Amino acid sequence: MARVSGRDHDGDGSRATPARRVAVDGVSKTYAGDDGPVHALADVSFDVTDGEFVCIVGPSGCGKTTLFRIIAGLEEATDGEVSLSGDPVDGPSRDLGIVFQEYHLFPWRTVRGNVGFGLEQTDMDESERADRVDELIDLVGLDGFTNSYPPQLSGGMKQRVALARALAVDPELLLMDEPFGAVDAQTRAMLHEELLEVWEATRKTVLFVTHDVEEAVTLADRVVVMAADPGRVREVVDVGLDRPRERTDPGFAEYVERIRGLIGE
Ligand code: ADP
Ligand code: MG
Repeated sequence: MARVSGRDHDGDGSRATPARRVAVDGVSKTYAGDDGPVHALADVSFDVTDGEFVCIVGPSGCGKTTLFRIIAGLEEATDGEVSLSGDPVDGPSRDLGIVFQEYHLFPWRTVRGNVGFGLEQTDMDESERADRVDELIDLVGLDGFTNSYPPQLSGGMKQRVALARALAVDPELLLMDEPFGAVDAQTRAMLHEELLEVWEATRKTVLFVTHDVEEAVTLADRVVVMAADPGRVREVVDVGLDRPRERTDPGFAEYVERIRGLIGE
């Protein structure tokens, strides 16, 4: 896989004190349901530091997608606030790459056309744009499929396209909502490796939502463990395992068990 460089935030190559990339502060969300109010989120708070890989894990219905949509600026919190790099979120941000649970690709555009979509709204000239798109397609291992259309691709390949598209505009933060939920276990394991390679190459901050505890322990520096009814943070777990991680490692199983215990699985 090729390298795509991330930005040098300080401009001098120094590693200053990591900034708070995402701050979730007392966020609540109540929906007006058919049978009365639904408390999707109650007083959720946590931070994500610059360059960190954080997973949000919890059972179905605990408000993960709601939280994801509030952080992305696609939904308004009933109470509390989210800031990205210190700026309160009050709508969709440009400095954000989003990968949804469903693929959300443009079926009438090729892989190249999908990956390049966000760059068409920038003032990047055409040859530079083409180079950038090739670099990203290479990064996610899809060279050879540049001119294919989404319906011709497998689920795993579609999510690689979605990841490349999210990275195209070089966002500071990558937000992913159960992106690999629909692919088989073997493909998912491969996508985990690839995502971690991309993360290490680009040093993006990643916030990754999943209901799969093993997936969270494979990927995250820290795991925000949520509980349902109302959706809330149960605990934030530091995953103190070396990378690359092995599922056969006894330490791995301990973290999985501990988090499952917190969720009540
Ligand atoms: P998760 O992603 O963890 O499965 P969601 O954020 O999708 O959870 O949902 C949390 C709760 O909020 C669920 O009880 C769900 O039914 C409810 N909910 C989600 N979206 C809406 C909506 N637009 N209107 C009413 N209730 C909703
Ligand atoms: Mg969800």
